[in-house]
Amino acid sequence: MITISQPGDNRFAVVLMDLDRFRDINDALGHVQGDTFLKAVAERLKTLCRSNYVLSRSGGDDFVVVIPNATAETAVAFVKNVIDAMQRPLNVAGNHLAASFSMGIAVFPENGPDGESLVSCAEIAMRQAKKDARGGYKLANTTESTEAQDRLVLGSALRDSLSKGMLNLHYQPQIEAITGKIYGVEALSRWNHPTLGNIFPSRFIAVAEETGQIEAIGRWSLEKACRQITRWDRDGVRIPVVAVNLSAGHFRNRSLVPMIDGLLKKYNLAPERLTVEITESVMMDESEETMNVLSSIRKLGVGLSMDDFGTGFSSLSRLTRLPLTEIKIDRSFIMNLEHDANAQAVTTAVIGIGNRLGMTVVTEGVETEAQYSLLQALHCDVLQGYLFAKPMSATDLEAWARKPHDFLKTTSENHTQKDE
Ligand code: C2E
Ligand code: MG
Ligand code: MG
Repeated sequence: MITISQPGDNRFAVVLMDLDRFRDINDALGHVQGDTFLKAVAERLKTLCRSNYVLSRSGGDDFVVVIPNATAETAVAFVKNVIDAMQRPLNVAGNHLAASFSMGIAVFPENGPDGESLVSCAEIAMRQAKKDARGGYKLANTTESTEAQDRLVLGSALRDSLSKGMLNLHYQPQIEAITGKIYGVEALSRWNHPTLGNIFPSRFIAVAEETGQIEAIGRWSLEKACRQITRWDRDGVRIPVVAVNLSAGHFRNRSLVPMIDGLLKKYNLAPERLTVEITESVMMDESEETMNVLSSIRKLGVGLSMDDFGTGFSSLSRLTRLPLTEIKIDRSFIMNLEHDANAQAVTTAVIGIGNRLGMTVVTEGVETEAQYSLLQALHCDVLQGYLFAKPMSATDLEAWARKPHDFLKTTSENHTQKDE
């Protein structure tokens, strides 16, 4: 990453320029003439740049101009000159060719603290120009650049936290509907950064996916969960199963299976103690690779759960073809269960199908006694939600598990529990 040592003392603008329809020129005239055309374009750009501008070709038909001591206005004046200058056709081996650029402008420091984030903001703006105003320009939008910058900052902070062991796993109990006893727990990642604060999983998991760190998080949570099971066993806390969330990317990688196998051996765990939660995007991936990985996980004896069922585009026929042991009905259906006949119909159908396919059906997001009663009446197997407990640290879960709970009679004592 290029870091600017003293932000604020040195304004400048980055203009990213992408030639429109260069491929057509290459196709029509061939690569040799295409190169000549690029040289002619560069020559013309050079005449528009002052001596302290930095002009470079950054890729095939992309050029970058860095304008020192510039505001957005200076950069706009420059790109308008480019647009004007490109009105005159270029002479390439006797052909008069018109050229135009789509351009994106980012300005330091408004659009980013360093070269990397400025270039990425300028690129977003340039793509927008390509879409909306081909041959024109766009200024980097501060909201978009904040988002791009956010991703960069969060991505590297996450890498740092992960390497320093600063992520945590919390555990949320799952309750057997018939007995009211604990069925297992779901492990959920937590990230409390010393300066960025508490970052929601929905946000950092997305960042991890975008920045190629999701597999590292998966390996980390599998290891941590397995180690935790042995600790609870040692301390006499009965937690039958721990479910770990894995993202789609994991299942395209064959090394996942020996990794899980290795962990079970290392911690001397029966495979039934571990469940892997997959999302519908894994289910949608029909590739042989993914199918092989899924069935190998099942062959190990580890549980395979379909998370957030009903939110994606998975088909029922696919449900029967996957080696699943469990379906988790998404919280959105449970939220509306009491008042929405459609949500009730879907929930009833999924419970029926799950039971008939020999899978355990879990419902997520159970928050009220009324939902609990309804789900019991519908013969749902397992319930998870704030009504019973919020996700909590391993130590808090231990204390929770040691307390007597009779969810069949009363649930009110847990209503105020906090997710720390
Ligand atoms: P999920 O796997 O569906 O997890 C359930 C989410 O619902 C958790 O949110 C949990 O705190 C929340 N929840 C549970 N009961 C209730 C309830 O009664 N009411 C409400 N409103 N919410 C409830 P959380 O922990 O914020 O996690 C969000 C999502 O982030 C997870 O959804 C999962 O998809 C993902 N995630 C979390 N940890 C990991 C991880 O280690 N790896 C991966 N790949 N994804 C993770
Ligand atoms: Mg889950
Ligand atoms: Mg879920």
